[in-house]
Amino acid sequence: MQIIDGKSLAKKIREEIALEVELLKKDRDITPGLAVVLVGDDPASHAYVKMKAKACKEAGIYSITHEMPANISQSEIEETIVMMNKNPNIDGILVQLPLPSHIDTTKILELIDPKKDVDGFHAYNFGRLMTGLDGFVPCTPLGVMKMLQAYDIDPKGKDACVVGASNIVGKPMAALLLNAFATVDICHIYTKDLAAHTRRADILVVGVGKAGLITEDMVKEGAVVIDIGINRLEDGSLVGDVDYENVAPKCSYITPVPGGVGPMTIAMLLKNTLKAAKERK
Ligand code: NAD
Repeated sequence: MQIIDGKSLAKKIREEIALEVELLKKDRDITPGLAVVLVGDDPASHAYVKMKAKACKEAGIYSITHEMPANISQSEIEETIVMMNKNPNIDGILVQLPLPSHIDTTKILELIDPKKDVDGFHAYNFGRLMTGLDGFVPCTPLGVMKMLQAYDIDPKGKDACVVGASNIVGKPMAALLLNAFATVDICHIYTKDLAAHTRRADILVVGVGKAGLITEDMVKEGAVVIDIGINRLEDGSLVGDVDYENVAPKCSYITPVPGGVGPMTIAMLLKNTLKAAKERK
């Protein structure tokens, strides 16, 4: 069994991005810029945004965070997005989710200029992903694909199973695996017999948000297991959706939590911001 070290891989990618950013500044006088919209005071969202801002700084990317109170109106968020769409120094716009329940999240995400949609959540980019065209791919699934690539794991011809079917994790993950010629099962809360699907998988990707969901008996011997889930236990520790201790011995490769997919997500955000800056007219 080999552990897929997302932390080291992400560090390497971030160093490469920093060099590319330096070149972009030198050759074209462009400093990539990322605008983050952060609404409310959810501690996890604040922590994520802080990590993203730090990562930008280290890579030489300019970033600005628009912090807004939880009771902000839909139109005020929309005005900020419109302003950022027009700002020539901003290449990427990221709205930290979840937004408060009185806000229409879809409407906000659809307002972002698809060319600045570095999270890849806009239907335009999702459509391009489904059709195999170039565009912005959501950072977490993109990070998973980079991990597979770095460890020479080719999805072509493999049976893959994605557990979790959200627009930001499961669906784009499944699309990427399909584009890489895997045969993909997509499972969700209403899947009748989850284990019947997971047991068939050569590559099992789990992004649900339920600690201990995937147990040893649900995993095929020699499978590649990618754990996207993040769950905080009562003692404060972080775990994924996979019962790591018991599942790991059965796997050929497995990602740990923390230190697996999480760091790759941030590295891919920087990558997407750099991509947007390079495409700046
Ligand atoms: P979500 O709540 O939007 O979606 C969860 C999905 O899981 C849904 O499709 C739902 O049908 C499915 N599901 C729920 N219970 C299930 C069950 N018992 N069996 C099978 N499927 C079930 O969540 P999300 O935004 O997609 O995030 C999923 C997880 O990934 C969360 O733990 C989140 O914190 C984590 N996440 C991690 C990163 C990272 O960088 N590592 C990034 C984004 C999300």
